[in-house]
Amino acid sequence: LPTNDSKNSTTHDKFLDGLLASGFDESTCLSRYQSHLYRKPSNHKPSPYLISKLRNYEEFHKRCGPNSRAYKIAMQKITTLSSKTHHHQHHHNDNVDAAKCKYLVWTPANGLGNRMISIAAAFLFAVLTDRVLLVRFEADMNGLFCEPFHGSTWILPMNSPFWNHENVETYQSIVLAKVDKARNLTLDQLLLPYVLFINLQHTKEDPEIFFHCDHNQEALKKVIVLIVQSDQYFVPSLFMTPSFSHDMNKMFLEKDAVFHHVGRYLFHPSNEAWGQISKFYDAYLAKADERIGLQIRVFRPTFTPQQAVMDLLLSCATSNKILPEVDTRNPAGTTASNVGRNNHTLKAVVVASLYPEYGENLRSMYLKGPTITGEVIRVYQPSHEEKQKFNDNVHNIKALVDMYLLSLCDVLVTSSLSTFGYVAQGFGGLKPWLLYGLVSNETHFPPCLRDLSPEPCYHFPPQRQCNGNPKEHFATSFPHMFECKDYYRGVKLG
Ligand code: GDP
Repeated sequence: LPTNDSKNSTTHDKFLDGLLASGFDESTCLSRYQSHLYRKPSNHKPSPYLISKLRNYEEFHKRCGPNSRAYKIAMQKITTLSSKTHHHQHHHNDNVDAAKCKYLVWTPANGLGNRMISIAAAFLFAVLTDRVLLVRFEADMNGLFCEPFHGSTWILPMNSPFWNHENVETYQSIVLAKVDKARNLTLDQLLLPYVLFINLQHTKEDPEIFFHCDHNQEALKKVIVLIVQSDQYFVPSLFMTPSFSHDMNKMFLEKDAVFHHVGRYLFHPSNEAWGQISKFYDAYLAKADERIGLQIRVFRPTFTPQQAVMDLLLSCATSNKILPEVDTRNPAGTTASNVGRNNHTLKAVVVASLYPEYGENLRSMYLKGPTITGEVIRVYQPSHEEKQKFNDNVHNIKALVDMYLLSLCDVLVTSSLSTFGYVAQGFGGLKPWLLYGLVSNETHFPPCLRDLSPEPCYHFPPQRQCNGNPKEHFATSFPHMFECKDYYRGVKLG
């Protein structure tokens, strides 16, 4: 355990101010109740309303989730209803209202960071709309996380028909094809099928889908199984939806701590991942006076030379006094220049990157001589996978370990546009220094900017009002929403 024993492990800490429920078997998920020994106490308290919503959701999940009688009944109902109706007819039936339990099936897209931020958003959407969240975790997500909800599972059962959505009708096709053409027809006047797929994985070119509008949310209420595919942190759109905003505001009094709470509530590293995280922390980070996390994500490695990235990183770190320069005039490290300074300060640096060179370069730089401040710098890089790998759970565990270790740092430098960094900053409640996103061999000043909040950026927020009219800066016209510093189209809570 960490040497920081000034912090006594009160029950208060252990349950993260009531965020976490009691009653779990601790040995099956050590991280759930040990993380507080590694992380500084949070500056953000979850609201009593959020806590009550979570406890209610847990009861609901147990009652309607897999293995429950209600789940079996709901699934049988869907099968009968679907066999009676051709799926092109939006036949509606009173039986649907008898189905007490409704579901939100989350489907992955892209890397682990993208997945985690979109699961967090999907969870809140499920809470707001009284749906059970089930995640479609394939083998590549095996062994990453503990079950978040006591007495049940959030994994979509193997025998579920919703592992595949090939023949499922899509929200997009209904909104765009039908509602647009029949001008005076809104989605709430349509009868939606019992099972519907919605793509919330926006791209620049996508037309507006009015997911943030009450009339569409009203129509979606009738869908029993909603399958959502997303890589986005669409939480800001939940604040924009009139019928959700009251609940959202009451749950989250501090708008810059939504992911901080939801992420720490949902994502508990498995014992395997936690073993790696805690061993690394104990060995290299526990004794440091300050922990610095550097996340170096290069999206186009063939066009962006490592030296350019290194220069940018060092310029950011030294100009903002995150890391000291090396005293090249005094390579022997004579003590004279260090006397009277904070020469015993030990800074541990965690480098997270696919490429080993960043950690190696930094380490060898600090071996060249003493630092001008006298601080002692130690550099550690937990992994270097070389490239993003798909369908590989061992690779994903390494990614989780890196994100988590970054989140345990005191100061964080992240890369623009990277959801990997968003998870780390959100867990830690840290406002990172955002490195400028290089596209090729350029230099940029300033090399980094201090971010305004630990929230993830929602890259593709809605652009139009619910009456269909586009509005310039639509997303940022809402309270607590700001343009992301790393993407002008994006919006983030702060
Ligand atoms: P984003 O693409 O930066 O937004 O982040 P994602 O997490 O969605 O996708 C990037 C994926 O590449 C990660 O999930 C990892 O699989 C891999 N990856 C990228 N950077 C790192 C890193 O620093 N460490 C590790 N272990 N994996 C990384």
